[in-house]
Amino acid sequence: MKTIIAASKNEHKIREITAITEKYGMKVISRDEAGIPDFEIEEDGETFEENSYKKAYEIMKYSNEITIADDSGLEVEYLNGEPGVYSARYAGDNANDKKNNEKLLCMLDGVTYTDRRAKFVSVITVVFPDGETLVARGECSGHIIDREEGEFGFGYDPLFIPNGYQRTFGQMNEETKNKISHRAKALEEMERLLSERGGI
Ligand code: IMP
Repeated sequence: MKTIIAASKNEHKIREITAITEKYGMKVISRDEAGIPDFEIEEDGETFEENSYKKAYEIMKYSNEITIADDSGLEVEYLNGEPGVYSARYAGDNANDKKNNEKLLCMLDGVTYTDRRAKFVSVITVVFPDGETLVARGECSGHIIDREEGEFGFGYDPLFIPNGYQRTFGQMNEETKNKISHRAKALEEMERLLSERGGI
């Protein structure tokens, strides 16, 4: 099994990426496990694609190993696609999941359920030591509810009901979320790109 380094420091993301990529015969290890120091990579891109590439490339440059990165976020139609690439810091510099969720609820105060359409986006990038780069995007559409529901997951999970379901991501166990999420779809596409390439 070939080892790939995950550029992310978000434990939830790494767990989801590991659970999904295991099925495809990849072993993902964290930056910590790979012995990479804890330096920050500035996410100053205007698109998920730019930020995802930047994260994967920086870690590949440091380690000279194959690296996988996820850049993701939530786009709310009523808010013209906000918070988008700013999802992690929506509530400002000291943002955390709770504050971000509060801000989002506030921004959508009084908006009807039908108008609370949103989608999660994940862009997965794999960069090889010779610079070869593969990019895959996955999306999951749904609605934002008007209160937090559920304890599972992270980020905006307690506010998001995917289309075709009655429960939020926060009320689903990881196994269920990992079958339908934006990240699952992006990783499925990445698997297709990798097999087209003849593996890793
Ligand atoms: P990133 O680490 O810069 O890619 O920021 C991702 C941010 O988007 C997270 O901090 C969450 O706020 C949000 N996000 C991305 N994926 C998910 C998910 O699967 N569930 C809930 N929130 C997510």
